[in-house]
Amino acid sequence: MKRFFSKAIVFVLSITMLTTCFIGCAPTGGNPPADGGIKNVILVIGDGMGIGQINAGKMDKANDVYAFLNWTNARVNTSNATGGVTDSAAGGTAIATGTLTTNDYVGLATDGETELETIMDVAKALNKSTGIVTTDYIYEATPASFSAHAQSREDIDTIIESQITSSNVDIFCGKYSDECADYEYDIEENGYAYCESFQAIDSTLDSAKQFWSLKNYPWMDGLKTAVEKVISVLEKDNDGFVLVVEQADIDKYCHENNLKKTAQCVQSLNNTVNAIMSWLGNRNDTAVIVTADHETGGLSVRDSYAEGYKSDWTTESMATAYYRFESGNHTSAEVGFYIYGATPKFEDFATYKRTDLIKNKEIYQILKSLIEDKD
Ligand SMILES: [Zn+2]
Repeated sequence: MKRFFSKAIVFVLSITMLTTCFIGCAPTGGNPPADGGIKNVILVIGDGMGIGQINAGKMDKANDVYAFLNWTNARVNTSNATGGVTDSAAGGTAIATGTLTTNDYVGLATDGETELETIMDVAKALNKSTGIVTTDYIYEATPASFSAHAQSREDIDTIIESQITSSNVDIFCGKYSDECADYEYDIEENGYAYCESFQAIDSTLDSAKQFWSLKNYPWMDGLKTAVEKVISVLEKDNDGFVLVVEQADIDKYCHENNLKKTAQCVQSLNNTVNAIMSWLGNRNDTAVIVTADHETGGLSVRDSYAEGYKSDWTTESMATAYYRFESGNHTSAEVGFYIYGATPKFEDFATYKRTDLIKNKEIYQILKSLIEDKD
């Protein structure tokens, strides 16, 4: 394990050294360097999305392009503070704060009291705009890990109050919940435009702070559309933005061992990533990361029969594929980490190979080094 930590430290150091040299070596009063630095960071999380889930999405719809699989990548160990199988609260907190914690804790250290600085706090200190888009309720564990502090992911009131008063998140977007509706007055008192209608998002786009708890959130395409809308607001900030995107339903359908729905949710995530890449075009000021908080279900898929594999899965091409879930719970299986960026800075990441293993909390350090990159 030590090898991986030292690798991460070398990585963070090399980023720091590059940045330092960058500032130190930049011509004074001249044009900005060709590499203008990283302005925006987009983190896409597939809740419960292990390698098997990605393979399921691909096999189910063979013609889809999975651009992110060609990016620089590594594997991620997702265990929590005790080395056990993580839940989305501890898994999200590790990525959002760089600190391993206890399952069920949101944005808190293992003492259950120390509030951890989130990557959104880091972004806001640099005057960047921030957003969270999820297919789930806004107060659920993954979005909450980036925007709240609570001793239990079930403590919805504490999470929502934390989110609207002290989260440093400008835009929240998730599916409708009565719990959020109960806070409409407080949400607006804290400066957020509140919207409950997916079709009415455009009416709030001019507001700096937005809280979207959306009815009629389209199941498959809603995430992509919402992300496009949120980016259209965030990109107006000349200081840049940090956006966290979660496809939460992969986890839910893996708990049910529902292969077809799992595959469709991965396709929804991939469609969203491809939309982000379309927005990105040729710009070289944005980093995109795709990863997961943990694997759910111990899923493996294959194109030929093997003992223990089910054959009731017909893919879109009408081919029969085979799959096996080992459980209905979260597992310790490693997940993928995929990173994209067009600036020379990303040569650092070329050291990552598919066989490298990083710890989930290191993703925070990577995000932080990207966010703090100066032009
Ligand atoms: Zn779960």
